[in-house]
Amino acid sequence: MSLCGWAQSKTQCVFLVMTDGWRCDEMFNGATEALLSNTSDVVKQQFGQGTSEERRNALMPFIWNELVPHGQIYGNRTYGNNVNLTNPYHFSNPGYSEIITGFADPQINHNDKIYNPNVNVFEILNQSPKLKNKVAAFGSWDLFPYIFNVKRNNLPVNAGYINAEGKKLSKNEKLLNNLQNDIPAQFNGVRYDALTDAFAMEYIKREKPRVVFISLGETDDIAHTGNYAAYLQAGHRFDQYVKDLWNYINKDPFYKNRTTLIVTTDHGRGHADNAWTSHGNQFPGSDQTWIAVIGPDTSAKGEIKQSGQHYSNQIAKTIATFLKVPYTPEKGCGDAILEMYK
Ligand SMILES: [Zn+2]
Repeated sequence: MSLCGWAQSKTQCVFLVMTDGWRCDEMFNGATEALLSNTSDVVKQQFGQGTSEERRNALMPFIWNELVPHGQIYGNRTYGNNVNLTNPYHFSNPGYSEIITGFADPQINHNDKIYNPNVNVFEILNQSPKLKNKVAAFGSWDLFPYIFNVKRNNLPVNAGYINAEGKKLSKNEKLLNNLQNDIPAQFNGVRYDALTDAFAMEYIKREKPRVVFISLGETDDIAHTGNYAAYLQAGHRFDQYVKDLWNYINKDPFYKNRTTLIVTTDHGRGHADNAWTSHGNQFPGSDQTWIAVIGPDTSAKGEIKQSGQHYSNQIAKTIATFLKVPYTPEKGCGDAILEMYK
């Protein structure tokens, strides 16, 4: 597509916020009845009441009561509105790589600490004249410096247990640096989302980056432990992080009315009630994802109930197009999702 249709774009900043391995099942229908049977009465009371619409509102109140009514969400397969990965592996590194580069590379078939050979949209934006050094990424997982390939592009990526760096650190950042090294790690190579979120928010307030990537990991790590109540709580916390971020954006004159927020996940999980803890191509449903968007160029279409097919490989080009920066990787990429634009 040409850029001309987007010439009036108000978007000057884009935030891509992701939660790892959050299923369509919970996103669109709330807590799954059958999986609640082993949880406490408190959890059943909090997340298990009423219709699926009431349950999803209880689980993700910001996304369903604020973001979706003023924005859009794609991926509710009940209406034949599908979002899928194009990579055949359906786990994290292939998923993040597909999303930030705009295509599935068959060689990214591992979760190893190997620098990604493919150029991603965030580094292209960071090298563009108008966004130079105004891009930053934050993640709970220590693989992100490799996924973004900081060795090649020097993109600021704070992930795993990397400390905040620089001469202008806030009091809070100094405290967070100490705290994250003192708190015992729960998962190997993945820090608590509360720390990642706090590092991101401190940096955003101080540096005012124009393009930000944030990935939170607890939805996936906790799902693998099989604790459904804790998985729900992780998704509920994610909703709160997104709410706090959006509220901040709308209070800060630098970001207000010129920031587009895109929210998505890197993969689904097994769809069957006995497969929700796992994901990968042997667990059907793991390639099913969703994308939510809100911002000054996005009309309030709400939950998309028309049949349609989108792919996670379209997110990179969509971000570049919102920012009116060309993105044409050598190996090609998915088209921008035009419906996200008024
Ligand atoms: Zn996983």
